[in-house]
Amino acid sequence: MSDVEHLLVRAARAAAEHRRTVGERPITPRRSAEDVRAAFAGPLPEAPTDPDSVLTELLMAADGAITGSVGPRFFGFVIGGALPAASAAEILATGWDQAAYNEALSLAAGAAERAAGAWTKDLLGLPTESSTAFVTGAQAGNTVGLAIGRNELLARAGWDVAHDGLYGAPPVRVVASEERHATVDRALRLLGMGTTSVHPVRAGHDGAIDVDHLGEVLAQNADAPTIVCLQAGNVNTGACDDFDRAVPLARHHDAWVHVDGAFGLWAGASPRHRHLTRGVELADSWGTDAHKWLNVPYDSGLAICRDASAHAAAMSYSAAYLTGSGGTDHVLGDVTPESSRRARGFAVWAALRELGRSGVADLVDRSCAHAQRMAELLTAGGATVYNEVVLNQVLVGFGDLSSTDAVVDAVQRDGTCWVGATTWRGRRLIRISVSNWTTTESDIELSADAILRAAT
Ligand SMILES: *Cc1c(COP(=O)(O)O)cnc(C)c1O
Repeated sequence: MSDVEHLLVRAARAAAEHRRTVGERPITPRRSAEDVRAAFAGPLPEAPTDPDSVLTELLMAADGAITGSVGPRFFGFVIGGALPAASAAEILATGWDQAAYNEALSLAAGAAERAAGAWTKDLLGLPTESSTAFVTGAQAGNTVGLAIGRNELLARAGWDVAHDGLYGAPPVRVVASEERHATVDRALRLLGMGTTSVHPVRAGHDGAIDVDHLGEVLAQNADAPTIVCLQAGNVNTGACDDFDRAVPLARHHDAWVHVDGAFGLWAGASPRHRHLTRGVELADSWGTDAHKWLNVPYDSGLAICRDASAHAAAMSYSAAYLTGSGGTDHVLGDVTPESSRRARGFAVWAALRELGRSGVADLVDRSCAHAQRMAELLTAGGATVYNEVVLNQVLVGFGDLSSTDAVVDAVQRDGTCWVGATTWRGRRLIRISVSNWTTTESDIELSADAILRAAT
């Protein structure tokens, strides 16, 4: 074997060993941060090191410091697992080292993105004419969607953002729920619109936007160019906005409608849960993650836009596209914020090929059923569940009996499962997200036991 062949096989074996044992090992690193940092630190090497030794050093430095977030009992944030075919495709993407800027650089990467983009739209029930951009995650997906909306609304008002920037432009207001994700605010900061552009709308008890209040906010200053930003899947409760009512209302005010659907958009892939995202296809743009519920390895997300020409006009690399000659036959680099980037389409393609329509529906349904079961077991053990478990998110507390942060600490130290804390409506609570394809009912039982143990 050549050196590179030997090394890639060795790395793949180490990755495979991690996958095989991740469910049996403690989830959190057992080593201190100082120790791990010291293992990686030291002066810049003056001379080359043999690659095989570099891999050995890396494996040793990271040993015991890899968080078991790909394992079946990691319920923090909204962290997806990594499907076998998608993981293998990621290894190939690295081995092939394709740059997905255009199809002269990689015909295969382009074809994989086009196919995976079409499959994603089909699965989620989004308009077939939409353009799809493969980005790092929902943060980037939201940034791209809001950028397209900003440029398109200002173009309608006679202002060319691509040419003239935002200085002196008419202000664009962003009407968004008080429960919007923080990535929406960061996108607005990055896009030069600032967070004062946000006109907040109240959310109901479940975290979904209050559509009556949305109507009231829209009616104030009704002539301003307006982006309405909705949400599929509140990060705390899993609640989805009522798109069927909210989107037509926004349309009535000529607003651009963007949907942050990081994980919730995937409810549309399940016949059993599809009602939650009914009407979401009426929006103009969508941001979503593949690395959450689809279980594609990090990082992977999509920006999807109904108006492919507006998409290319806003994100274009080459001035030719500024005229908006896009269409779904775009140059890959004309719909993403990056120029050169890794070929993310292979892994998304592989995940969708591995699961198929029924497999994605099953993954969504299973995760939701596990979340329900977790809620039942914790309630039976004396905890209080604070959300209606409509999707894969569970909010739990122990009242005054135990402080949430102390329970979370104890759970993390115990190592059976991993949960984090969140603040919901002024209350500190444990947030549990079931998003991993490997999680079984027995993982849920073991984890509920561990959480209840930690609370006493
Ligand atoms: C996770 C999440 C995001 C951000 O996604 P990244 O993958 O971190 O870029 C945005 N919105 C919601 C609702 C999320 O759950």
